[in-house]
Amino acid sequence: MAKNSSLFIFQKDLRLDDNPALNMALSHETAVIAYILDPQALGGQASCEWLHVSLSRLSESLAERGIKLILAKGRLSEEVLKLAREAAVDHIYWNRSSSPYQRSEFQGLKKRLNQNVKLIPIDGCYLHPFEDIKTQSDSPYKVFTPYFNSLLKLPKRKPVAFQNGAKSIDRLASLSLDELGLRSKKKWAASMMKSWQPGEFHAKKALKEYIKHVESYESSRNTPCLEISTSKLSPHLSHGEISPIQVLHELRDMRSTSLPWMRQVVWREFAHYLLWHFPNTSLEPLKKEYASFPVELNPAFFEAWQKGLTGFPIVDAGMRELWHTGWMHNRVRMIVASFLIKDMHLPYKWGEAWFKDTLVDYDEASNIFGWQWSSGGGADSQPYYRIFNPESQAATYDPDATYIKNWIPELENANPKDIIRSVNLEVFPYPKPILHHGKERLKALALLERFKKSLNKMEF
Ligand SMILES: Cc1cc2nc3c(=O)[nH]c(=O)nc-3n(C[C@H](O)[C@H](O)[C@H](O)COP(=O)(O)OP(=O)(O)OC[C@H]3O[C@@H](n4cnc5c(N)ncnc54)[C@H](O)[C@@H]3O)c2cc1C
Repeated sequence: MAKNSSLFIFQKDLRLDDNPALNMALSHETAVIAYILDPQALGGQASCEWLHVSLSRLSESLAERGIKLILAKGRLSEEVLKLAREAAVDHIYWNRSSSPYQRSEFQGLKKRLNQNVKLIPIDGCYLHPFEDIKTQSDSPYKVFTPYFNSLLKLPKRKPVAFQNGAKSIDRLASLSLDELGLRSKKKWAASMMKSWQPGEFHAKKALKEYIKHVESYESSRNTPCLEISTSKLSPHLSHGEISPIQVLHELRDMRSTSLPWMRQVVWREFAHYLLWHFPNTSLEPLKKEYASFPVELNPAFFEAWQKGLTGFPIVDAGMRELWHTGWMHNRVRMIVASFLIKDMHLPYKWGEAWFKDTLVDYDEASNIFGWQWSSGGGADSQPYYRIFNPESQAATYDPDATYIKNWIPELENANPKDIIRSVNLEVFPYPKPILHHGKERLKALALLERFKKSLNKMEF
């Protein structure tokens, strides 16, 4: 066996800087640096399009530093095993992830590898190791604010710069990027990607640009029509082109003015913390009883929602923004999620799956968290009885219908007040409202009562 030889596996940490596990691997004499595409661990087509470009830029950056990125496709544990055996490495490094699937894949490796091979997971993707943050009763937090306060008090590691002392092992067979089959070559995909610049370089640039506007976050964050409403950093964070540690480090001299935005970055951390501590939430609500919340399976409603043809302009605008750009403003994500769950009474899992398919920033933990928050079954979630009224949401956050008109050009010449109220729109080629919000709201509340009664019955 080659002495002092390592293998590093990229996952959702597609960056050279602040990648402690990569640096550790490169501190050995020789190193294999690999990305394994495991179809089980992938998002949908939109995030695959992003991944394709991101990997291509990552592999260029590595090549400039004399390192070949080995690409493989298959089950994560199998491919790691193959690479480790072929290159006869004695250390395997990766950055720990909250993903239950990836955790179990790496867990399974222990039993199958030669016992001389050291498996070394590193805390390189999050602000602080998840095990260290507990309530006074030694259980994981389920409420954000005390979690946030605890996290703030804890020391954080400093971002580390890329360091290479190893000779890259490049004799191993590698697939080409195209052989990974991530790109769809469909027109919509090329058009969607026009909105974005993946890769570590652009992630850093986007962060630096956004920080100039961070002080106005509190006043702009709920106005989706603004050119700069929020940072749009989420796809970079979700693919790990930049780390939350790097984000916090950039904000170090402006703590007070950046606090509202920093809290949002910590919401992401909280979502990963919860998935880590409660891996079952990838399958069922954190509040388990919500798995039996009464739902209706109405494919026609679901299709209208997916296509942005519900006749509720703020909902349709959001769903069309998602389709065209792979991204949707957070305020609008909350509105469309509430609409699917509480106006259409569809299973929240249907919405979760559609977002997984269509978001460039698809992030398992944040998506699960967002959908469970909206359905009332998650941690610190919005109570089910809080039902967003699409009309008042649009009136408050898009009063001139600027955002709506941008995504629903059929309504360009309609009066903003009519758009907001979904009235007098028959003259435009736009669907009538698919349902009556007031009636469905009452129905949702009746379903909630039925649900509560069924829980009481179970208790007695
Ligand atoms: C139903 C639903 C599903 C969601 N699915 C995802 C998802 O798959 N991937 C994803 O990255 N975000 C998801 N979010 C969270 C949030 O909508 C996006 O992170 C945010 O809109 C990204 O825009 P931004 O980068 O401009 O955010 P900013 O407002 O600039 O915030 C900065 C960063 O903080 C994090 N963040 C902000 N808000 C949240 C939040 N509510 N929860 C978790 N992290 C947050 C993101 O990483 C974001 O990039 C979801 C929210 C909802 C309601």
